[in-house]
This record gives sequence, structure tokens and C-alpha cells, in this order.
Amino acid sequence: MKVYAPYGEKASQKVAILLTSIAKTLFVDDCNCLLCGKELEEKNRSGLCLECLQRLPLNDKEICRKCGRVLANEADYCNTCQNNERYFNSARSVCVYKGEAVALVHGLKFGNKRYFAKYMANAMVDKYLDEGLDCDCVLAVPLSDKRRRARGYNQADLLAREISRELKLDYLDGVAVKIRDNEEQAKLGHAKREDNVKGAYAVKEKDALKGRRVLLVDDVLTTGATASEVARVLLKAKAKCVNILTFASTKYKVASETGDGEENHENEMV
Ligand SMILES: [Zn+2]
Ligand SMILES: [Zn+2]
Repeated sequence: MKVYAPYGEKASQKVAILLTSIAKTLFVDDCNCLLCGKELEEKNRSGLCLECLQRLPLNDKEICRKCGRVLANEADYCNTCQNNERYFNSARSVCVYKGEAVALVHGLKFGNKRYFAKYMANAMVDKYLDEGLDCDCVLAVPLSDKRRRARGYNQADLLAREISRELKLDYLDGVAVKIRDNEEQAKLGHAKREDNVKGAYAVKEKDALKGRRVLLVDDVLTTGATASEVARVLLKAKAKCVNILTFASTKYKVASETGDGEENHENEMV
């Protein structure tokens, strides 16, 4: 059969190669494990092969009832939640931020693997349902324009869109914005993080939040300072309540040196 080649055989070969590589980038997730690349026998909700799925560090043990982070003891609350005002009702996460969970977050966030969002969101939807959360709209923790432009997208926004679609909840696109580009949270302990995020967020469309139960979505929760500050701003705009859902959260550790009850998370690029 003669191939239709309006720009000559060579040009169409190039186009064919280009299309194949685009297709591979777009659809590789449909048949291969997101982490090890092994071919999957059939599509599944996690996007992972059985081995990788079993290694996923699920956050299903002792957690702080407020922020949902793993605790080293059997206390009900971590020190940060005991000693600080938290503006969200609760925060919950699918995984502890280590091992395979870090690989997924980094792929989504720094590896330009946007298609990870769909699978990570599936796990977050399951968590939402397991926890019996009851919200009526979804919002992503906003990135500053500068950071979003540099990355090309906001990973929290990708997750939040997928979650709202799955749960059939309103997606409040751009209702909250980041108005100040604060210092990177990753280098700071909790007390400094709280100061650092204060005044960094604002609500653009106040009426959109009135009386609503908001599900606030992010990829990782570390000290919860950002989540709490965004929740504070949403409540001020008359949201009824705010629940936080993240793919992962760091393990709560008491630090002896930072003096504010939280360790620094220097290795993490949040
Ligand atoms: Zn795998
Ligand atoms: Zn806590």
C-alpha cells in the first residue's frame, strides 16, 4: 500500500518516528509499572506491578489523629498538633514519605511524569472513601506563578483535578492563589515554617467557598504548616471546614536541636 506522504517519504518517516515517541510518552503508563517499568498483565488502579505495590509504604499504622502523620509512640496527637493551632479538621495521607512513595512523588514533581497523577489520585480517592471524608468541593494547594512557570504545572493541581473527577465533586480552579513567593519550606523547622507561610496565600473568589466543605489536596504534607495556613485563609473566606488529603506525609520526629519540636527536612524538596 502506498503511504500518503505529502512532504516526501523521508519527512513522513520523521513524522512517524516523532508520533511513535509521543505515543510512548503518553501511553507508556497504560501497560507498564510506573516504578520499575515492568509490563503489566492488565491495567490496574495503582499503575504498579505487584512487587512495587507491596513495597509501597502505606500510612496505615499509628498516626496523629489531627495531621495524620506516623507517630513513633501511641499518643493520640503529635507535639505540633498539641501545641499549635491547626485550621484544618484533619489531614490524611496514603503513604509515609519514604521509598517507593518518594519515587512516585519525585516522578510527578520533578520528572515531568504527569501521567502519575491519575494513579496517585486513585489511591487518594480510596483513602478519602476509607476515612469516610465528606466534602463538597476540591481545591489544590497553590504554587506561586513563578514556581509553576518554572515547572510547567502544579503537581497538586493535577492530583486535585483527578480526585474531583473521580469523586464527582466541584473543582475550584484558581480560587486560592499564592501571592508571595516565600523561602523554600524544606529548609525550615515547624515554627519557622509557620512564619514563612503566613500571608503567602489568598482567596480570589470568596463566594465560591461560602458554607462549603473543602477537600484541600497536596502531594506531600511535612509539618502541616502550609496546609494549616491555606485552611486558615479558606475559613476566613467562609468555607465551612477544610480537610487535607495528600499522597504522602513525613513521619513525625521530635528534634532536639531545632527547638520547635520538629526536625528539618533538608533532603526533601517541597
Ligand atoms: Zn514495578
Ligand atoms: Zn499531628
